[in-house]
Amino acid sequence: MKTSASVLIAGQGLAGTLLAWELERAGREFAIVDAGHAESASRVGAGLVNPVTGERWASAPGWAEKSAKARAVFREIELAWGVSLVRELRIRREWRDEAEAAPVRARVMRGELAPWMRAEGLEARAAWIEGAWRVDLPALIAAGRARWSAAGRLREARLTEAEASSWPGPVVWCAGAAEDKLPELRPVGGETLELRIEPRADWPGDVVRHDGVWVLPTGEGRAWAGASFVRDEAERVARREALRASVRRQLADVGWRETAVLAGRRMTSPDRAPRSGWLTGREGREGVFNGLGSKGALLAPALAREWADRLAG
Ligand SMILES: Cc1cc2nc3c(=O)[nH]c(=O)nc-3n(C[C@H](O)[C@H](O)[C@H](O)COP(=O)(O)OP(=O)(O)OC[C@H]3O[C@@H](n4cnc5c(N)ncnc54)[C@H](O)[C@@H]3O)c2cc1C
Repeated sequence: MKTSASVLIAGQGLAGTLLAWELERAGREFAIVDAGHAESASRVGAGLVNPVTGERWASAPGWAEKSAKARAVFREIELAWGVSLVRELRIRREWRDEAEAAPVRARVMRGELAPWMRAEGLEARAAWIEGAWRVDLPALIAAGRARWSAAGRLREARLTEAEASSWPGPVVWCAGAAEDKLPELRPVGGETLELRIEPRADWPGDVVRHDGVWVLPTGEGRAWAGASFVRDEAERVARREALRASVRRQLADVGWRETAVLAGRRMTSPDRAPRSGWLTGREGREGVFNGLGSKGALLAPALAREWADRLAG
């Protein structure tokens, strides 16, 4: 469906920022309304993209291609805006016990986790994962905000339904946890610990320590540790303490202190897949770009490009 009027983007988190970038690239008129980042996932999301994840050390099919495409988009933005966003990382992940280690070692020896995990990266208590990277989400959001505020395209306000329905062009809700248009999407709270750490020569800045909880050096004597995902208060307290216990253990050889708890909410769907497209019955008028879950950095660039194509008609 051809929709040539200016696109209104509600929300400038990761989703809204990438959609605005794609529209700008395509020379399409757009405006953004954003309600601020008090609860936004992109303010606290670590932006890690990791080829081997979870308790089962799983590697998703097609990961390499998706990762390369996503990273290329962030690189384009880096070049166009003159900001540094992407950092390559190596992960040193510790086994919990031999029961966890044995099957992973066997898969590595059979080459099943190559090229990210190889025999030479196996240690007695840990294994190395190569090929991970991070996009600095707060830096991306701040740079986009400065750019589009200066261009008079971004207004700081909460878009109302009434304003949305009177907008002459298409409206795309990139509103994260404030979204209530799709009942299957549910908010999940998440916390990351911000730390001060003493730099150590034997802990290079591109190495993430990981024992189920990752500790990511973010530069200038700082690190992030996390993240926990919680549905209620009781769970939040327990998860935060578990996070702290892991940090105490992993940083036993490093001087450190906790400087903040960063909390946000992200949207997730029952099948963990994002929701991106026109709302039923509102085709060409109103759509959503949401439900990025814990894989926003990997998934959002391709979905934003799809949105730009959809809007081009
Ligand atoms: C603790 C934590 C750790 C995470 N770690 C990772 C990770 O390592 N890797 C990874 O890929 N992902 C991670 N994620 C997930 C990732 O951060 C999210 O998938 C992504 O940031 C979601 O972006 P979004 O734009 O959909 O939502 P948000 O970032 O929440 O942005 C929504 C924006 O919409 C605005 N808004 C809402 N309603 C309105 C309205 N009516 N009008 C105008 N504006 C409105 C809000 O103010 C906000 O700015 C993590 C998330 C959390 C919480």
